[in-house]
Amino acid sequence: MHRNQSKPGSLIDPFGRRVEYVRLSVTDKCNLRCFYCLPEGFKGFEEPGHWLRFDEIERVVGAFAELGVRRVRITGGEPLVRKGLPHLVGRLADLPGVDDLSLSTNATLLARHAQSLQQAGITRINVSLDSLRPERFKEITGGRLAPVLEGLMAAKAAGFAPIKLNMLALRGINDDEFEAMVEFCLEHGFTLRFIETMPVGSTGRHASEHYLDLQVVKQRLAQRFELIPGVMPGGGPARYVRVRGTDLRIGFITPISQHFCETCNRVRLAVDGTLYLCLGQDHKYELRPLLRQGISDAGLKEAILEALTLKPERHEFKEHPGQVVRFMSMTGG
Ligand code: SAM
Repeated sequence: MHRNQSKPGSLIDPFGRRVEYVRLSVTDKCNLRCFYCLPEGFKGFEEPGHWLRFDEIERVVGAFAELGVRRVRITGGEPLVRKGLPHLVGRLADLPGVDDLSLSTNATLLARHAQSLQQAGITRINVSLDSLRPERFKEITGGRLAPVLEGLMAAKAAGFAPIKLNMLALRGINDDEFEAMVEFCLEHGFTLRFIETMPVGSTGRHASEHYLDLQVVKQRLAQRFELIPGVMPGGGPARYVRVRGTDLRIGFITPISQHFCETCNRVRLAVDGTLYLCLGQDHKYELRPLLRQGISDAGLKEAILEALTLKPERHEFKEHPGQVVRFMSMTGG
């Protein structure tokens, strides 16, 4: 791809990609400690004074929406540990132009919040779930599986559809559970997505020894289930198949074996107001100082457009796996 001039006033990056999707991290804290994400005993969280307040988040998302962003995904850390989240959801849902407001969660606190999130305007939910075995779940995450399953069922009862389960494929850790997860999703009407482990932070790099190429996973599932080409709305990078005779879609997200940077349509806003232009690179732009110095709405949009000129062409997880030192929970996975 060749770098070209982005059009004035539009969210088109120097490589001609239109950014239409913001991943919004509302906290870098999490109540789980997935071994591939956050180290046990980690204390280096952002101080509360640096968290964007709800009014600041609303201004930034509003500016993005005026520039053409239609989809916003709330993530973290674990977004449900941020106090008052349903209130923020309601404010974001009311912004003109935002017509797809989704949430990524580990579901540990979802049973309590599913209904209020639904009423506030969340349209779709993704739940991270790497194992259906309580002991293994504990080994991977340090937490309990039961509340996650309760959260999933509460989301289903609240009427969320689709509910997507995201499972990291980890060789030697959960690779004997792929078929069981397919069966679980068939039983409950969930969509399943497998994800390749990325070398993000020291934790992600250590976990790379468990990396599994999803082409191999797909071939294995094809021996048990009849897989036919499938599609799924959502604007994300997953490539889908469907299990014949059912509504089950299975997506494969392959940042390593088959990267999808040429269609990247997103940026990430961290809880401290840092805009990250790529999950796998350090290119960033600080919005918090501007917000706290009283920047105008027009100035904020100018700043976002300037930030977009920094979006790199692609990640280099394969070429430079040691490059990204921040943990996934900081960027907003
Ligand atoms: N707490 C929420 C959740 O559990 O979905 C949102 C944040 S979490 C960081 C988002 C996703 O990042 C999870 O699905 C998690 O599995 C994924 N993730 C974290 N570290 C990763 C890594 N090193 N490689 C690939 N995915 C990772």
